Amino acid sequence: MPRLAGKVAVVTGASRGIGRSIAEVFAREGATVIATSRGKAGDYAEIGSGIEYQQLDVSSVDDWARVVDDVVTRHGRVDALVNNAGIITYEPAHELGIDDWNRVVAVNQTGTWLGMRAVIPHMLAQGGGSIVNVSSIWGSAAVAGAHAYHATKGAVRTMSKNVAITHARDGIRVNSLHPGFIATPLTDAQDEDVNAYVVSQTPMGRPGLPEEIAYGAVYLASDESSFMTGSELVIDGGYLAQ
Ligand code: NAP
Repeated sequence: MPRLAGKVAVVTGASRGIGRSIAEVFAREGATVIATSRGKAGDYAEIGSGIEYQQLDVSSVDDWARVVDDVVTRHGRVDALVNNAGIITYEPAHELGIDDWNRVVAVNQTGTWLGMRAVIPHMLAQGGGSIVNVSSIWGSAAVAGAHAYHATKGAVRTMSKNVAITHARDGIRVNSLHPGFIATPLTDAQDEDVNAYVVSQTPMGRPGLPEEIAYGAVYLASDESSFMTGSELVIDGGYLAQ
């Protein structure tokens, strides 16, 4: 039986990279997938068959209400939410502008909170669900620069534990997922020297693939992880083991 058979799952930031792979693997594993990002449905035409698309800016309260209401109206429930959408800036704390700080916080941190806030009432009403919040190795460890990214990914890690504990007896599980260096449009756009450095510091000596993260998300969203909440699933080629 497919690992997510019968589950209704919302995935944010699913137009490319890790989120897109999560949407595709979830669909292959039998979930009804609502893939979301800021683009219009037409921008998303080439995504795998059987995957619905909804426009959702994760920093918008109104977008969350519209999308989650629609999902619950049409599908009757929401079993899994993957808060994957994320952006990065590279400035150290003393060079970061307030607008860039606010932008990164709005997407990575506020967006993750708003997603949990939107689905939890439905998960309470239906008796459970699984929330997967995508953090990073930079939610626990640091490299120089990228101050706002580190701050928000650390917040995602601890916010996840807070909601996990709050709802541990409600059947709602919340875990954070911590990718290491993964080859995606985000890392493709980064400085080559930065990428080479992070890969050189990765014990397995190569970038990860989006699908290698997606299978971790399948585990967390599925009933296979039924005794796991408030935890961190690290998939990083050994980076944080050092
Ligand atoms: P990516 O290729 O840049 O994709 C980011 C996704 O987020 C896109 O689908 C983008 O879609 C969406 N997005 C951006 N702003 C949004 C907003 N305001 N509302 C909704 N969607 C938004 O990034 P990625 O590498 O796949 O990263 C995905 C997640 O993994 C992020 O949270 C990232 O921090 C985390 N991560 C990545 C790595 C890595 O090495 N790649 C490592 C650790 C953690 P639109 O622009 O079309 O809206």
